[in-house]
Amino acid sequence: MPVGILALGYKALAPLCQLFLIKARSFLMRPDILFSLSSPVTTLSGVGPRIAKQIAKAAGEHVVDLCWHRPSSLIDRRFSPKIAEAPDGAVATITLSVDAHLPPHNRRLPYRVRCSDETGILDLVFFHAHPDYLMKVLPEGETRIVSGRVEYFRDEVQMTHPDHIATIEERDSLETVEALYPLSAGLTQKTIGKAVKAALDITPDLPEWIDPAFFKQQKWSPWRQSLLELHKPQSEADLGPRALPRLRLAYDEILASQLALALIRAQYRRLSGRAVTGDGHLRQAALSALPFQLTASQEQALSEITGDMNSKGRMLRLLQGDVGNGKTVVAFLAMLTAAEAGTQAVIMAPTEILARQHMTTIAPLAEAAGVKAVLLTGREKGKNREKILEGLATGDITLAVGTHALFQEDVAFADLSLAVIDEQHRFGVHQRILLAEKGTGTNVLVMTATPIPRTLTQAAFGDMDVSRLTEKPPGRGPVDTRVVPVSRINDVVNAISRCLARGERVYWVCPLIDESEALDLAAATERFDALSHLLGERVGLVHGAMKGKEKDAVMARFASGEITVLVATTVIEVGVDVPEATMMVVEHAERFGLAQLHQLRGRIGRGKEESHCLLLYSPPLQSTARARLEILRASDDGFHIAEEDLRLRGAGEVLGTRQSGLPEFRLADLAEHSDLLATARDDARLILNRDPGLESQRGEALRVLLYLFERDSVVKYARSG
Ligand code: ADP
Ligand code: MG
Repeated sequence: MPVGILALGYKALAPLCQLFLIKARSFLMRPDILFSLSSPVTTLSGVGPRIAKQIAKAAGEHVVDLCWHRPSSLIDRRFSPKIAEAPDGAVATITLSVDAHLPPHNRRLPYRVRCSDETGILDLVFFHAHPDYLMKVLPEGETRIVSGRVEYFRDEVQMTHPDHIATIEERDSLETVEALYPLSAGLTQKTIGKAVKAALDITPDLPEWIDPAFFKQQKWSPWRQSLLELHKPQSEADLGPRALPRLRLAYDEILASQLALALIRAQYRRLSGRAVTGDGHLRQAALSALPFQLTASQEQALSEITGDMNSKGRMLRLLQGDVGNGKTVVAFLAMLTAAEAGTQAVIMAPTEILARQHMTTIAPLAEAAGVKAVLLTGREKGKNREKILEGLATGDITLAVGTHALFQEDVAFADLSLAVIDEQHRFGVHQRILLAEKGTGTNVLVMTATPIPRTLTQAAFGDMDVSRLTEKPPGRGPVDTRVVPVSRINDVVNAISRCLARGERVYWVCPLIDESEALDLAAATERFDALSHLLGERVGLVHGAMKGKEKDAVMARFASGEITVLVATTVIEVGVDVPEATMMVVEHAERFGLAQLHQLRGRIGRGKEESHCLLLYSPPLQSTARARLEILRASDDGFHIAEEDLRLRGAGEVLGTRQSGLPEFRLADLAEHSDLLATARDDARLILNRDPGLESQRGEALRVLLYLFERDSVVKYARSG
């Protein structure tokens, strides 16, 4: 299945049905038992719209999101010493009598409430106090329990802003281990704690979907109990990835995803495909026009793709390979096979720049092969567009290169047999689905430049067919990568000047700040001004807020050499081949993901000259950040980098989920739970062999599991045969 389908999460599976041309509406409804879990958090008592917004940021919008909002740390409040026994700095729960309120003489001083027990005196300290409120919760002459951090201040014992103030009756609920949750701005531990508790209170028992023998062997608890235990950690180990309740819940999540993939695969296999066979004459013509030989891995990938197309099944293959490893050429040769069979093929790119670049690669080859190829993007308009549409509808045009403009409803094909989707990392699923609908039994090849560690490929694709381009084409100059503190920026500018003096070109990539486009833009503009000042006229700027046309114009000037230094935000990450660019400076490299840096660096080292990549960072650099940049310095192999990144950071963070095409897991961590992944894959296969309709008692439970993890849309594929 195409990467992005998973990247976009479970909801995105819905349009996938279209890919399989299943038009029948599903009458299967979400099981009633899940009703409360799938309700918005505002249905919980104590959660209004304002808090719901904060919760949505931290956890999600639905009750179930709170169930899955794992505690990230804990406070042990079971330590309840007398005042004299309470050590400085310890969290303690202390029973006190409230002696006197001591309002400050001066508003800048704190409000104190003097308390005591038989061993000594303790002051509760409040800044910006509301005296009325304090009088209410700490009435003079009464006994109260307070919990918080004990401090010694000039030999006096005090507690500033206790976390809890309670009455004697409430002692049991206070003297526990308290789970602490990740927060969002404005949200307090108290609020989220209450909301989680309210969510757990209405959580139903669910039928068991895990294989009974496996369940027993793992010593797991039923679903609801596991959830309750997850939120009641008693020790640090309980917060970890290998705690039993966490393992069980992680397994549920992984099983849901593997079962969904298995169902889709099974459905896909049921669909009729078509054999698309060529005689090789066009391909031969194109190959002889190529100024180079295919690499061994290009040959290999091409024969795998041709094999799929020749066979009657419908192709759904992923072509993975680093930027510059020659995916486009492979895709184009596959498209020629479609042409030889008298059918049409398209390749679509995520951006206009890329579509144009594909066209530049493809046009001369298509001409050599005598095949008509057109470009169709949002910019082809009016008469020109009409002519193209007519050619595609009549079959007069064989190959089309384009963007989502290829999917407009009025675009029809005479006989589309192959759709190549250059995914890079930013494609909307529904678009490609729409395209695939434009032919019967259309074969689909998805290209991605994101290397996904072998260990994770399974999670992302199930048993989707994968071809990998692991070799760089020969004749590429090496890229010398260095990690440089930003304090040496003058040296960097000097290096740029030397590079320009040799007639080469430079990329300067600006940092991401706070994920705010406005700020990113400000930083890039500022850098552009500074470099223009230092280096003169030939500095250009390209950023995400520019219109497609403006962007292309700047890129074209850089490609032609009119501009020699290109200041850019990460828009250059995708595509764009300028072999004369031999130097790249990345500011605040420590803020980028490794994969992203690797992608960026792929923009240089495309010519014969040696290239240089300077990763600027702002000290101090944390050890993980240093280790990550070091990986990049030492290796140029995307797959290796991805594996190392995974090892260092854990799957959740590798590449940034959105880019990587990995499914977003809430409870599972693929670096920690790869054993569960393997089991779940086997389990999913076994389940579908035995009970393809999910009709047994366990099958029913598994349906609930699919709904629980919003894999709704695949439930309809569960059927006999
Ligand atoms: P990708 O799509 O994987 O980023 P491309 O197909 O765009 O890579 O190829 C990058 C560049 O390498 C192009 O200029 C292409 O012509 C060239 N190229 C592709 N395959 C080879 C090869 N086997 N030998 C030499 N150059 C190649
Ligand atoms: Mg490419």
